[in-house]
Amino acid sequence: MNREFNSDNNVCDLCGAVQYDFILTTPRLEGPLVCCHACHLFYVLAPVPKPISPTTVQVIESAPVAAAEMKRLSKRAQELCLVNPFVEENEDKWRAITAAERYQDLLRATSLSSGRLLEIGCATGDFLYAAHASFQVTGVEADEAACAMTQARGFDCFNGTIFAAKFPAESFDIVTLYHVIEHVPSPIRVLQEIHRVLRPNGFVIIETPNIDTIWYRLLRARWRQFIPDHKFFFTPATLERSCAQNSFAIVERRSVGKAMSLRLFFDRLGRYHRPSGLLLAKLVAKLGWQERTLQLNLGDVMRLYARRK
Ligand SMILES: [Zn+2]
Repeated sequence: MNREFNSDNNVCDLCGAVQYDFILTTPRLEGPLVCCHACHLFYVLAPVPKPISPTTVQVIESAPVAAAEMKRLSKRAQELCLVNPFVEENEDKWRAITAAERYQDLLRATSLSSGRLLEIGCATGDFLYAAHASFQVTGVEADEAACAMTQARGFDCFNGTIFAAKFPAESFDIVTLYHVIEHVPSPIRVLQEIHRVLRPNGFVIIETPNIDTIWYRLLRARWRQFIPDHKFFFTPATLERSCAQNSFAIVERRSVGKAMSLRLFFDRLGRYHRPSGLLLAKLVAKLGWQERTLQLNLGDVMRLYARRK
């Protein structure tokens, strides 16, 4: 059941409209999920409605605020049993497999084999590691500990947000965001900043959940992508429009999967049905299959390549 609201407290980041349709509520998100009446961007309303002015967004985007917010939301995800730190800590091998796949795909899609590459939200530097043989790599990471690990691997990494980093204009050939754009306070402002720091014809690569999927329609509030730190949910149309209206030309978009251990797979299955997830996790442990690799593409994650005009 969709109810229509009129509100001038929450403005659509993509088109500026103030009318939205109410979609659902779930404790897994920080507020009600709504869909913009005009452009159909899905987004989560702020828990306490407050005016979103450019100044407010800038405060939210400041490095210490972003880092504190990230910590709070990841704690919330653990409380809701959506993320298990023990399981996550043992996924290094599979994160490296996924990073290598992203890098090979980048070489194919961009036909570039050298230049300056920036990864926004580089975590502990797995993708920078995969790319550093050919590219001069730089990371941006709001989490202090993750940033320190990236630096310890020998990579240039700025602790904070893309805005605080204040990179010179037109200084990168490629900017990547793997599962980052759905987390930020304003995806459009991030795209504008990427446009500024990319050289003309440079590439932006965005990987993010795709809400226009059978899984969301079937599972609704139990869809695996509903976790507290996700604020925006794109369809192929809204993601392409976000790029196009900020002077990027779409190059290609397709659905992608990732590598994971069977241990992580069954832990994540617990997001749908916790008793089954736990039972199967025990069985897999008993069989000694936790370390087996699963290449999973459910069709609910998309990767887009666009060129800066
Ligand atoms: Zn809109």
